[in-house]
Amino acid sequence: MTIRNSVLLVFALLISTDQTSAQYAGAVPAPENLSAGFQSISEDDSKAFLSTLVSEEFSGRGTGQEGYLKAAKWFAERLAENGFEPAGTDGSWFQNVPFVRISVQQEAPTVTFAGTTLVEGKQTGMSRYFGVFEQELPVTIARVGAERPPITDGQFSGQLLVVQGPGGFRGDDEWIQKAKPACVLFVVPAERLRSESVNRLEEAPLELPSATISIEGASKLAETCGANAGFFSEGSSYENVLVQSSRHVAVHLKIDRESVDVPNVVGWYPGSDESCRHEHVGIGAHLDHLGSQLGDVFPGADDNGSGSTAILQIAKAIHLNPVKPRRSVLLMAFCAEERGLLGSKYYAENPLRPLSDMVCMLNIDMIGRNEETDTEPASENENTIHLVGSKQISEALHNMVMDANSHVNFVFEYDEERVYTRSDHASFAAKGVPITFLFGGFNPHYHKTTDTLEGINFAKICNAARLNYLTLMLAAEHGHFEKNKPAEEEKPAGE
Ligand SMILES: [Zn+2]
Repeated sequence: MTIRNSVLLVFALLISTDQTSAQYAGAVPAPENLSAGFQSISEDDSKAFLSTLVSEEFSGRGTGQEGYLKAAKWFAERLAENGFEPAGTDGSWFQNVPFVRISVQQEAPTVTFAGTTLVEGKQTGMSRYFGVFEQELPVTIARVGAERPPITDGQFSGQLLVVQGPGGFRGDDEWIQKAKPACVLFVVPAERLRSESVNRLEEAPLELPSATISIEGASKLAETCGANAGFFSEGSSYENVLVQSSRHVAVHLKIDRESVDVPNVVGWYPGSDESCRHEHVGIGAHLDHLGSQLGDVFPGADDNGSGSTAILQIAKAIHLNPVKPRRSVLLMAFCAEERGLLGSKYYAENPLRPLSDMVCMLNIDMIGRNEETDTEPASENENTIHLVGSKQISEALHNMVMDANSHVNFVFEYDEERVYTRSDHASFAAKGVPITFLFGGFNPHYHKTTDTLEGINFAKICNAARLNYLTLMLAAEHGHFEKNKPAEEEKPAGE
């Protein structure tokens, strides 16, 4: 070997050491017996996995869409490569979750008035109604507040009601039921229009013919009804205003409903100790995102390509580490988180292994971007992460996360109220399983088409994976956690 070559070799070793030991300043080395797995978690793998997850082929991984199914299949293949066994139904990698899908028939729905036609797509979208509705109707436009304006029974019968109201305003609203319009168009911001929607099986379809309309489309309609152009607008507080018009509007809806199954992906890594391998540590992330909507693809690199990437890296680390977890590992990639945590709820209601054997559940959602708010620039959040819910059910689990973090050294932030119920761990916490939730925080790309690879913090993904790899291995050694004693009820003051 020439001197020149040995210098190169030393240089190469320095580089590789540098790449694999990117814990934050002040972290102590990983425990010897877990070090090989820990060191295997690399930024190169983060980039490779995440690039695939955001690829065109998976087109935003929308529940009920083709891209999600492709992503689920790809994900299962990665688990198989890393020594996992299929843990789904009938020996498969999948647990199918039943949904109904509401989508347009061949002819797109339209709303026509005064020579303007709004076509399903950019200005109108689905609600939970399916069926055929074709009528020309006089119209009432309305903005209503949380306190609905007084109306008489059937006040809007035979009319089209175009209405904007506070969040969660839907067709089963009592006020609308009482008013009995022939058809309703709900006014929503353009980004909330949906070309199709996948809903819970048990969620009854709306009987009232209805659709959504963008603020822009509704504003044009309001103008032709003699209201001012700003009648409908963005905002959350509304005063009650009703304008009745003799202007007729033609509504044409042809909407289909069908059953559709969408899978959670589930893999099992058998524990090394036969006496307790039925017990398992659950780890999960949602694989779905918003998919493709009205021609726009939502790549969801951070939400939740980052978490899906992290759990794959953990799978690989478990497999590469010579010392195996004593208890088993159940790895879950959920569908339909974006539709209301539906995939994880389905698992928790229909567990494939007894939930009483689940030692804890570690959830990861959105850990690929630095948090960025009006008061906190992204540059201040290079090494921060939200640790959510770890104290709620078992302080012992929280303490274990703290131990694991000494080897990574994240700066933790806590904001239980805001997000404790907003990701898949909540489905398990509701069943009394101790949970932790790693969450990177909100940022301007949240639920936007700009949530691409641009600006992703790959070191953060790696360190989140390292932290949960260690927590998982320690929990697999530890077994069930003692649950917190319920707080003693305070006696009411006075007599
Ligand atoms: Zn998410």
